[in-house]
Amino acid sequence: MRKRAIAFMLLFSSVFSNIGYAANSQQIEQTTINVTTTGSADLYAATKQGKKAYVSTMEIYLDGEQVKPIAYLISVDAYGAYTYFKLRDLAYLMNGKDCQFSVDYDEKTKQIIAKSGEQYVSNGSEMKASSSGDQTAYETNSPIWLDGEKVEIEAYNINGNTYYKLRDMGDVFGFDVSYKDSSRQAIIRTPGYTGSDTPESEETPDNKPDNTLPPVTPEPEQTPEEPTPNKVDGVLTVLIDVGHGGSDPGATGTAPYDFITYQNRKVVAGGTISEKDFNLPVALCLRDLLEANGAKVIMSAETDKYVSFSERKEIIESNADKADMLISVHHNSFNGNASGFELLAQIKYKNGGDGLELAQAFEKRYYENGRTRHAPTVFKEGSNGDYYAILRYAANVDLLAVISEYAYIDNANDISCILSNEGVKQEAQAMYNAILDFYSTHEY
Ligand SMILES: [Zn+2]
Repeated sequence: MRKRAIAFMLLFSSVFSNIGYAANSQQIEQTTINVTTTGSADLYAATKQGKKAYVSTMEIYLDGEQVKPIAYLISVDAYGAYTYFKLRDLAYLMNGKDCQFSVDYDEKTKQIIAKSGEQYVSNGSEMKASSSGDQTAYETNSPIWLDGEKVEIEAYNINGNTYYKLRDMGDVFGFDVSYKDSSRQAIIRTPGYTGSDTPESEETPDNKPDNTLPPVTPEPEQTPEEPTPNKVDGVLTVLIDVGHGGSDPGATGTAPYDFITYQNRKVVAGGTISEKDFNLPVALCLRDLLEANGAKVIMSAETDKYVSFSERKEIIESNADKADMLISVHHNSFNGNASGFELLAQIKYKNGGDGLELAQAFEKRYYENGRTRHAPTVFKEGSNGDYYAILRYAANVDLLAVISEYAYIDNANDISCILSNEGVKQEAQAMYNAILDFYSTHEY
């Protein structure tokens, strides 16, 4: 392990907005072709392979009322699936709100024209799918001309209609979007709305106070230090060991509801979810965060493949000189009831020092994600050093390492925190923050 002077501050910048947005240069210009009746399906097929678009079961609340726009889940990047909505549905729903807007399609110029503040005029297509069940989505270049300005956001064409991400539309048209309950609910709030996110519960107010914990004093607003771009300077090198993969699924559990994996595979409620469905997307997201901020990353795998322990040992040994630390990404299992995160560290730090402090940096950030801790940092000794192979291989070449178990995959409640790309990103963001926290006070 190299020692270098420490020199970087914490970076809290979110780079997600820059990740996963595919370049659109080679796509066709038409935006609202009806692929089933105009014969344009061939054009799509020739231009770009479609992706499976799954009917979304997400609950959508607009200013506290449940609404039912048409929505599809599509996996577009390595982290998981996003939900896409029809522009016309949102325009229809926003009618009468401060942020209402009109939508028109100019047949001549093939432009989608929106005007803010104008009332939306229905064309009868709103809030219904042109065909039922899962569909095929084609990536498309469909800028919105808003008040004369061209706005380019990621778009998919499904059955001749253009679909966008809700949050992107919120940014464009000025409404707020947040996700709750591990993205099972999308909460839309328009400017000026001050009510609750979802309809008030039916419970009588008298039942409530007795069971309610005293209000928690909100933590003081985190004041991130001044963001300093690229303070890592391409010097910090992180080795990410991706748990399991390929023929080795790792721990398994049961999907509590329909779930679309990062590979755009649907696991229906009650179906089996595997640890490897999460270890890789979290690791890839962590890699992207680190690289986007100037760190170097070495991965044990960048695709879903089997990597044996002897190969992992080889990767650790051959990169021991380059890497400053190793993070091994796993998700836990026990008896179906255990919950919370767990960090496993090298035994040489059981009485304190870097290994314990690194684990604590992870724990602090996991708590901030609303996770609970299953158990204090684990230091387990085997017959010849660390009990856990990855920690032992790293210790043998003097490489600092921790294993992270963020949630219990065999506990549907616990794992639901990452059954969405938002959750996957939150986990990776916590890891990224923890690594930077640690190296703000330690040398590398
Ligand atoms: Zn594992």
